[in-house]
Order: sequence, then C-alpha cells, then structure tokens
Amino acid sequence: MTEKSGVEAKRIVDYCDQLLQSEKFRDYAPNGLQVEGTPLVRRILSGVTACQALLDEAVAWEADMVLVHHGYFWKGEGASVTGIKRRRLKTLLGQDINLLAYHLPLDAHPKLGNNARLARLLGVEIQDGLEPGNPLSVGNLGVLSEPMQLDQFGDLVAHVLDRTPQLISGGGHPIRRLAFCTGAADRMIEQALALGADAFLSGEISEPVVHFAREAGIHYIAAGHHATERYGVQALGEHLARHFGIEHRFCDIDNPV
Ligand SMILES: [Zn+2]
Repeated sequence: MTEKSGVEAKRIVDYCDQLLQSEKFRDYAPNGLQVEGTPLVRRILSGVTACQALLDEAVAWEADMVLVHHGYFWKGEGASVTGIKRRRLKTLLGQDINLLAYHLPLDAHPKLGNNARLARLLGVEIQDGLEPGNPLSVGNLGVLSEPMQLDQFGDLVAHVLDRTPQLISGGGHPIRRLAFCTGAADRMIEQALALGADAFLSGEISEPVVHFAREAGIHYIAAGHHATERYGVQALGEHLARHFGIEHRFCDIDNPV
C-alpha cells in the first residue's frame, strides 16, 4: 500500500454523520469530527473513551483515525488546553490522527447503537424507546425471551459483559419487561417505572436510586458504564471497515466504572 492510499476522512465523517443522524441530537459534546488529522484514512482504531492510553495505542498501531463514544469538549469543562487535555491533543495533532466521536447518536442508533447491541447480547427484544414514539429516544423498553428472577438475570449480565453487576432488588417479582439505557442513566429509572418495566438496567448507580428502586418496586441493575458502552463503537467501526474497505480494530482500555 502506498503512502497516499486510503479513504478520504471527509467521506467517512460525512457518512457517519448521516448514518447516525447526528445533527438531530442535542448533546453535551460535539458529535462528528472533533479533531482533524490526515486527509486519508487506512486504519481506524475504536474505543469507548479517547483517553491517553487509547491514543498511545493508536500511535503504536499507526491508526489514521480514532473513533470513540466519549470524545472531548464536554459542556461545562474548562476551555483551556492544559494538563491532560494538552497531552491528548498534542498526541493527536502531532501524529495527524483524526478524532471522530459520537455520543447520544451512537447510544440511540437502532442497529449499531449501544442500546441495540446490548439488547442483542442479552437476548432482549426491543419494543419501544424510553420516550415512547420518539425515534431518537436514548434507551429502550424490551422483553426478555423468558421471565427471570433478578439474581438469574444478574448472572446472565455478568456472563455477557464479563463484569459482576450491582443488583438492587425492588421485590420478589420476576423480570419480563426490561427498560435499559447504557452509560450513566440511572436517574431514568423513573421513566422505566412509568412505562411499567419490571427492572431497569443502566451503567452507573447513585445513592438515591437504591431507595427509589426499593420503594417503587422496580429492580435496578448497574452493569457498568464502560461495560455497557463497549459495543456501539465496535459495531460502527466494523461497519465502516466493511463499507470502505479499510482496517479497523477495537481496543478495550479497561475501566471498572
Ligand atoms: Zn457514556
């Protein structure tokens, strides 16, 4: 392969923006190309978060593009390019690596999204969004192929995600209707309850949610923010590799949260 071969970065970015309908989402960070690098892409390295360890992998593998779910420039963060932010940007800009990031659009996509992929892994059939009728709804309501007790479902989650979830029991009832939203969406348990779900699954957990689950009678499963969000970016990366005939590799930088 010559130095100049590859697919135009702009084509990949435009394709993803359209595929994920990214302009339709009101998000906490910019979606799409966050840092511009080399105009031609042969290799995409994907990961959950654009942390320094992922960037170092990208440099070592000579990737031209890093594709992530958690990029940079979040609302409310300091605007100065100092400290770890300087180091990360210096790595990208110094090596001419493109940074492509999709947050909510990648949670919500009906085929490649984090929620759709997690549902498939857990054998959950999606029936609606957490906001019924909203095609851009982040999070879903689905049904398990057969009802399970909370501890039984917890074993399944542990097996699928290779991570022991935290289980908060909302009573003795089995789980058939499961609401779920990957990442840090534990407060959406109220929406899950309103939709009549037996249980709600998300990534993180906060103190009030434990009491809410117990008192409202809905199980809560905290399955890991990172663990629940590994799958959308992998699916998108694999899709791009097939579509454009380029190389893709997913790199899992472990995160216990
Ligand atoms: Zn997240």
